[in-house]
Amino acid sequence: MFNIAPASEEQFLAKVREFAAEHVLPYTREWESNAAFPDEIWPKLGAMGLLAMTLPREKGGTGVSCMAYCHAVKEIAKADPALAMNLSAINALVSAHFDRFATEEQCAKYVPGIVTGELKLAWGLTEPDAGSDARRVKTHAEEIPGRPGYFHLNGQKMFITNGGKADLIVVIARVSPTELTAFLVETAQEGFKVENRIHTVGVSASNTVQFALTNAVGWHTPCRFEDAIGLLYRGRLGIAAMAVGIAEKAFELTCEYAKGREQFNRRLADMQSVQNMIADSAMEIEASNLLTDKGAAMYDAGLPIIKESSFAKLYASETANRVTNRAIQIHGGRGMTHEFLVEKLWRDAKLTEIGEGCSEIQRLVIAKQVLR
Ligand SMILES: Cc1cc2nc3c(=O)[nH]c(=O)nc-3n(C[C@H](O)[C@H](O)[C@H](O)COP(=O)(O)OP(=O)(O)OC[C@H]3O[C@@H](n4cnc5c(N)ncnc54)[C@H](O)[C@@H]3O)c2cc1C
Repeated sequence: MFNIAPASEEQFLAKVREFAAEHVLPYTREWESNAAFPDEIWPKLGAMGLLAMTLPREKGGTGVSCMAYCHAVKEIAKADPALAMNLSAINALVSAHFDRFATEEQCAKYVPGIVTGELKLAWGLTEPDAGSDARRVKTHAEEIPGRPGYFHLNGQKMFITNGGKADLIVVIARVSPTELTAFLVETAQEGFKVENRIHTVGVSASNTVQFALTNAVGWHTPCRFEDAIGLLYRGRLGIAAMAVGIAEKAFELTCEYAKGREQFNRRLADMQSVQNMIADSAMEIEASNLLTDKGAAMYDAGLPIIKESSFAKLYASETANRVTNRAIQIHGGRGMTHEFLVEKLWRDAKLTEIGEGCSEIQRLVIAKQVLR
């Protein structure tokens, strides 16, 4: 129905698939038990062009279409959902932030390191008292006298992906009771302190942290709050793609298992109740793919995707949770063991219903668009 990507992007995606098979999938359990990715992964991701997919070529990025970006995230999610989540956040929220809002001077300073993976990145909006209600951000920024463009930031950020490893964080902060905007914060400074590593039930290789800013110096990237968080629309397509990748992987493993295991002298795959679960999963994955591709195609055509990105994220994330749940059911007791990947995929799937706007927020967004 949709062109997946132009021919040159097909080659890019073929390489991403190979990369995922060789450098990601074999290590997914190890990374989870270490609760960390190895440092070498970042330059490898950089060399693949995976850290600046949303940054146009003329600005030094890989500059692929939104469709190719989503498919790349999906391929990585099939191998390691936590890494896909990081790629989604870095591309949709950090590289894209540089594309849209950073000044030439800021781009000249940071883009080369972003593209190669030399600079590790994060995006910080959420706070202990500002989650779904992002406008409640309390972190505040005050201009430093005599240093135009530079501000002192004070506050706390919570649940920040890659926050404990990042060299550079895009931080959303308040400059007045009504105005929020964004700042580039280097972490190698006294005012930045990781307070807490947050261990999560899934995507646990990802370095999720809470950090504090105490008179930390931030470089203003002029943008309105609405524009900065408008990046979340494409971001939600990335999370949808991550969810589709999780669902597809769990589905493939489940079909294989159902064909291989016999009980009552027949294969699980020949039992109608199992077939029903497999049919429902196949159909929901197809629908999730179509919604994600539709959102990406519209984005690439320059159309607004507020409703479509919520459709894709909501449907694909709930699908990933249902499909991974059924995958464990069909694996039986073995599905609950660490010997089989489906239990990990089930745990990893949960994040997709929460990150970048929980399902309830997606429903609010959709209702608001539909009832306008
Ligand atoms: C692993 C992980 C990585 C993350 N990475 C990042 C990151 O890199 N950067 C970043 O800024 N944030 C990040 N987040 C934060 C994430 O975006 C928030 O967790 C999410 O937006 C929900 O906010 P909250 O957790 O404060 O939940 P709350 O806002 O407290 O909501 C809790 C629950 O209340 C319900 N709810 C809330 N509001 C409504 C409403 N209006 N109507 C109906 N129900 C509602 C929902 O069921 C919701 O799940 C990450 C979170 C996780 C878990």
